[in-house]
Amino acid sequence: MSATNPAATNPAATNPAAIVGEERLLIDGQLRPARSGKVFETINPATEEVLGVVADADDVDLDAAIGSARRAFDETDWSTNLARRVAGLRQLQAAFLKHADEIRAMTVAETGTPVSLTHSAQLDDPVASLGWVADLAESYQWETDLGNAAPLGILSHRWVRREATGVVGAITPWNVPHQITLAKLGPALAAGNTVVLKPAPDTPWCATVLGRLIAEETDIPAGVVNIVTSSDHRIGAQLTVDGRVDQVSFTGSTATGKQVMASAAETLKKVFLELGGKSAFVILDEADLRGACAVAAFTVCTHAGQGCAITTRLLVPRQQFDEAVSATAAVMGKLPAGDPTESGTICGPVVNARQRQRVEGYIRLATEEGGSIVTGGGRPPGLEKGFFIEPTLIVGVDNAARVSSEEIFGPVLVVIPHDGDDDAVRLANASPYGLSGSVWASDRDRAVGVANRIRTGTIGVNGGLWYSPDVPFGGYKQSGIGREAGIAGFEEYLETKSIAEPA
Ligand code: NAD
Repeated sequence: MSATNPAATNPAATNPAAIVGEERLLIDGQLRPARSGKVFETINPATEEVLGVVADADDVDLDAAIGSARRAFDETDWSTNLARRVAGLRQLQAAFLKHADEIRAMTVAETGTPVSLTHSAQLDDPVASLGWVADLAESYQWETDLGNAAPLGILSHRWVRREATGVVGAITPWNVPHQITLAKLGPALAAGNTVVLKPAPDTPWCATVLGRLIAEETDIPAGVVNIVTSSDHRIGAQLTVDGRVDQVSFTGSTATGKQVMASAAETLKKVFLELGGKSAFVILDEADLRGACAVAAFTVCTHAGQGCAITTRLLVPRQQFDEAVSATAAVMGKLPAGDPTESGTICGPVVNARQRQRVEGYIRLATEEGGSIVTGGGRPPGLEKGFFIEPTLIVGVDNAARVSSEEIFGPVLVVIPHDGDDDAVRLANASPYGLSGSVWASDRDRAVGVANRIRTGTIGVNGGLWYSPDVPFGGYKQSGIGREAGIAGFEEYLETKSIAEPA
């Protein structure tokens, strides 16, 4: 076989059987099937082929997983042995790196993500973040001395100690599974918590493969991480009501996040929510209009628009509207939906048939709301299999239209005119969400001034990228509560204890 044949270096590219998944749950250190013996299928969204099966856990399995996490927290030294935790995280990072090629192929097959993105947010960056959080835990100031004071006349020496919260129930969506899972698991474990992970049913192998690495290639003790896949969303709901769980760390839709918060209220759990978005890409007059429009087009096509922080409302100066629309459409037309295993693909399929129906429903709604489609709007020709949708540009609707205000989670961009900086800020903020955004102007101070006025958790100015393990990420308003990544993301998983003794 020729050394230049892609199949020689990447058998998964031509032979789907080479894709390695994992069928088993991880409970109390054991890789095992569901108690009932039931399984469900995981599907390749680019081919609609069944990749394989995974254990379909029920409430009995979840009960065992929570019990095991509780025991590991209460009865082992995990929460107090920093060196053990740091060593475990570094072993996990090394295991990911050792199996990076097979995990990359499996991730592309299961999520439909373009393989190019696995070299950043879909795999390599989250794996690197494990090292970052291990370093942080080693250098973190776990105790702070507050010195002496004499409240009520009693001279006392006071200090503040940070401690793990306890058992964390982590619930994740399907779109960027390694990123979201490791952004929860890394800091939660580094802080000394134990975890029950309930991944989305659409991408279960991305979680169970992690379970295999933990069980087979790390010394992370039994029960510290438990992974429970299920086709039944009620398993996630059960995790939010169980009294043995101290904290729920949830990423998913705003609708589900509201249910999580309500059900966690019964036992007053600490709740951390990363939810949806409808972020604005604001171009001010005198910006490099064509350059900015190209970035906006590229962003919405990335992973078929399935990113909570992707900018999906393009706000452009009214007098430059036509020029902006044609520049954006031209770039979107050059980024067609296609095979995610091809290195040049940016827009793969959406995750499943239901999601494609949902996106197509919004595209129909755009015309019902009086809008028109400049480019895209259908399924790409020549791709009979796979849940593909053409990158779609919509004009003629205002900021209050449903397609402009609701999260679509597909490669769909709406262009809306604005009448200057104040109007752009008003439109950007006229949203129930506040997750991300982008501002472009030739004058840097003007762009930063507008960015400061937009109520959102992350924002780029003139193409600057905030995405990094040391940068907190999260939402204002209905985009969430709390922050993932950075020191703030680590501290989400800590309690604060104040102690005093007679001085
Ligand atoms: P989803 O809300 O449908 O499901 C997310 C997870 O919650 C899944 O594991 C699901 O099984 C579980 N779940 C469902 N009902 C539940 C309940 N009642 N109680 C507890 N758990 C329950 O989200 P999805 O469709 O898988 O993912 C897409 C959504 O995720 C989008 O809205 C997107 O914006 C959001 N998201 C947000 C971020 C962020 O960091 N802000 C990142 C990625 C995705």
